[in-house]
Amino acid sequence: AHLDRTAAVDESVRAYLHVADEAALAAADAVDRRRAAGESLHDLAGVPVAVKDVMTTTDQPTTCGSRTLAGWVPPYDATVVTRLRAAGLPILGKTNMDEFAMGSSTEHSAFGDTRNPWDLGRVPGGSGGGSSAALASFQAPLATGTDTGGSIRQPAAVTGSVGVKPTYGGVSRYGLVAMASSLDQAGPCGRTVLDTALLHEVMAGHDPMDSTSIDAPVPPVVEAARRADVAGTKVGIIRELTGEGFQPGVQARFDEAVAHLVDAGAEVVEVSCPSFEHALAAYYLILPSEASSNLARFDAMRYGLRVAPDGDPSAEEVMAASREAGFGDEVKRRIILGTYALSSGYYDAYYGSAQKVRRLIADDFAAAFETADVLVCPTAPTTAFRVGEKSGDVLAMYRGDIATIPANLAGLPGMSLPSGLADEDGLPAGFQILAPAMRDERLYSVGAALE
Ligand code: GLN
Repeated sequence: AHLDRTAAVDESVRAYLHVADEAALAAADAVDRRRAAGESLHDLAGVPVAVKDVMTTTDQPTTCGSRTLAGWVPPYDATVVTRLRAAGLPILGKTNMDEFAMGSSTEHSAFGDTRNPWDLGRVPGGSGGGSSAALASFQAPLATGTDTGGSIRQPAAVTGSVGVKPTYGGVSRYGLVAMASSLDQAGPCGRTVLDTALLHEVMAGHDPMDSTSIDAPVPPVVEAARRADVAGTKVGIIRELTGEGFQPGVQARFDEAVAHLVDAGAEVVEVSCPSFEHALAAYYLILPSEASSNLARFDAMRYGLRVAPDGDPSAEEVMAASREAGFGDEVKRRIILGTYALSSGYYDAYYGSAQKVRRLIADDFAAAFETADVLVCPTAPTTAFRVGEKSGDVLAMYRGDIATIPANLAGLPGMSLPSGLADEDGLPAGFQILAPAMRDERLYSVGAALE
């Protein structure tokens, strides 16, 4: 049914870069056979999933939205993909994304943009706009994402779906094409909180192949989503991330959701996180620094596009020509910014200062979690913007990440779920919940109480 839906609507939505019809149907048959043989399977066995094209898959290309990886079929599966397959989730295909996960609109994909199913003239968020659009257009019931600065939560917010960035280290990064390794985290996307919890359970858990993977039991996310209990929960509203600067309709839906939590027995407090004001600046130094280093691997020698200039080019000339042709503007911008921030003489002033701000943000969170069990704010300042609206203004695009980035800098888990439609434009608004590290289940208790 999902493949039929894709055949019918994806010409206009363009959520997928690759559709794996036959492999998905074969995987579904294999689940039927296992079930018929009496094997006990996960609740999601047989339920299909769309996979963000940042995750390696041995049976389909993995391009990360970049020309440099066009057609590349990896030699191994990402751990997340291995777990999906083992649990019996057929993979429908690979979803579109901003190149190397850099962006908030999916307009930076080398293979064309993805559109928001609520209004095809608007963006589906980014970088994981392919996954969120697939969910919102009913081309998949579940999808995966990665969130370095909001790429799971912001697309969820602007498409009326649910997305969770787990605690850093909660889901393996093995087999994800790295952007900023200290920030990247894979997570589940769905249309309901419980669906998302079930997928979270499949994806999460310790992996010896990822040295930053946490060796501890997966937080009880499914149980929490089923209980939906917020009685006595202290909910902290982040003063710096509400009110001014947020679209009135987004703020109105947020306020209603908070009132709903109070009706359900939660206690609301206000918290202040003064360092969040500097989060964007710190993020857009740390991220390009790590990305410039991670993307050095695309040297045209080991894999990816190779462009050889005429004559008898040196290895360096081949690398330069290949990177020039293979990377889009946003990727080049971040590589240049990152190498600059890391260069000798500037390192302490830029990268060093950004790392100090990162610590202050973690301290703000720690102080806030002394008075609150979870923190809340709108996920994004606005509903989905128009295609092209922010293309000419890089900083305007970056500013939209204001509410999602702090959690990445501190390694904390966060969820975005729909809070309703904004009055001005009738488009979905997102409600964000943040929790302390390895307390991911709190996102699900509060989220489920709001559904
Ligand atoms: N929009 C942010 C950026 O452009 C977030 C990206 C992400 O989470 N992958 O960096």
